[in-house]
Amino acid sequence: MEKTDQIQETFDKQQKTSAKLRAEKIKKRRERLNKLRKWILDNRELIGKAVYHDFKKPLEETDVTEIGPCLLEVNHAMKYLNKWTAPEMVKGHISYLGTTGYVYCEPKGVCLIISPWNYPFSLAVGPLISAIAAGNTVIMKPSELTPNTSSLLNSMIKELFPGDEVAVFEGGVEVSQELLALPFDHIFFTGSTAVGKIVMEAAAKNLSSVTLELGGKSPVIVDETASIRDAANRIAWGKLVNNGQTCVAPDYLLVHESIKEPFLKSFKFAMEKQFANGTQDFKNSDSYARIVNEKHHGRLSALLDDAISKGADISYGGEKDATEKYLAPSIVENYSSDADIATEEIFGPVLTLETYSSLDEVVDKINGQEKPLSMYIFSKKQQNIQKLLQEVSAGSVAINETLLQFAHPYLPFGGVNHSGIGKSHGKYGFMEFSNQKSILKQRSGLTSAAALMPPYPKARKYVDLFVNTILKWKL
Ligand code: NAD
Repeated sequence: MEKTDQIQETFDKQQKTSAKLRAEKIKKRRERLNKLRKWILDNRELIGKAVYHDFKKPLEETDVTEIGPCLLEVNHAMKYLNKWTAPEMVKGHISYLGTTGYVYCEPKGVCLIISPWNYPFSLAVGPLISAIAAGNTVIMKPSELTPNTSSLLNSMIKELFPGDEVAVFEGGVEVSQELLALPFDHIFFTGSTAVGKIVMEAAAKNLSSVTLELGGKSPVIVDETASIRDAANRIAWGKLVNNGQTCVAPDYLLVHESIKEPFLKSFKFAMEKQFANGTQDFKNSDSYARIVNEKHHGRLSALLDDAISKGADISYGGEKDATEKYLAPSIVENYSSDADIATEEIFGPVLTLETYSSLDEVVDKINGQEKPLSMYIFSKKQQNIQKLLQEVSAGSVAINETLLQFAHPYLPFGGVNHSGIGKSHGKYGFMEFSNQKSILKQRSGLTSAAALMPPYPKARKYVDLFVNTILKWKL
């Protein structure tokens, strides 16, 4: 059977099944989550190997950034599922005397998850957990750029679920676009801002709701009061883990001019200590991953070349080896505002550095660009932290830390406008895949609402009473 026919057939079957899942007992969802959880635990080694073969990601990094977040997500969902799915009573109101109201989260139906290559396991399985917890059927389209992990995801799903509940279609842009033409009840997309726009346009044709987890440039501010050592260590880790191919990786550094030199010294030391055993030999280190493919290696090389040709200095690193898809951690300074590196998401082990003298400059610089997915503030001064929190819009903020805000089970994760629409993780992920159905229950017989119904001359005094009651409400 042609792939197009397989896709259509799976979609049709899932539509039928999704109607059944709506009425199913919550314990069935828990059983599905538990199966998934057990598979991840039993196959930790297989997952590690697949991601390693895709871009030489160290096994420990896979444990921390792929397997760990999925286990957190699934444990959290299993723990709170009963609470999240219980109908929530809302407060009564005098103008609604005699009625009761509650909110019930029902499954949206048939959902599509399109995932990227950079965390190829967790960014496919994380949303899947939320979708299953919310009672949906799912079609997944993992990234074609990480074939080992995508094929493992495919066999995992085949082993765990019938195709009318969860199915995987591997492939590139064409498969993605065929799927996007179908009237899904929800589309959860993680990827670039440019493709996010294509997804939203396709979704609009069917009025499918969307969650768009996108990218962008995440700034890091290190002020004059920051602990330089802590900042250096945490930024080095946040930048170089996954070889800088992280949606929330620090993208550009804004460092107070008074601490630039000590910070740089400490930062270089931290990168070498963590990722090259205290040397500059990142290439032969077991802790340093690779760029995913030649195309992205070429893109990063071009970003560096363009910056240099427009007057930038590479004050650290810069070595590349295309055959090995290796790029040394690199720091770019004195770059021109019209260099591509000033506006494009870097998405690799390269960081630009600029100094500032006043926080107003920082605020203007960040607000002059698209709203970031994350912002990092290194400071001990509450007033500075508060100013940045109030004056800059960003999807998430970490203070004196990098990346950890991403997987916190009680915090929503997502961007704003160009960096994303909608939220994921924990209850927020569950809600994204649920329709919050509001229910009003009226009593039988005489009701306060009946008094407001026509003929109006008779209802006049009750209408006045109704309006006055609302007006008298204490604000
Ligand atoms: P991408 O947008 O190129 O691809 C993502 C997915 O979309 C893939 O499955 C791909 O096959 C599909 N796709 C690509 N082109 C398409 C098209 N024209 N039509 C339909 N589908 C298409 O992204 P990527 O390179 O895989 O991932 C990197 C980007 O993802 C970065 O911008 C990064 O910041 C972002 N990202 C965001 C998050 C987040 O949670 N916000 C997480 C990880 C990555």
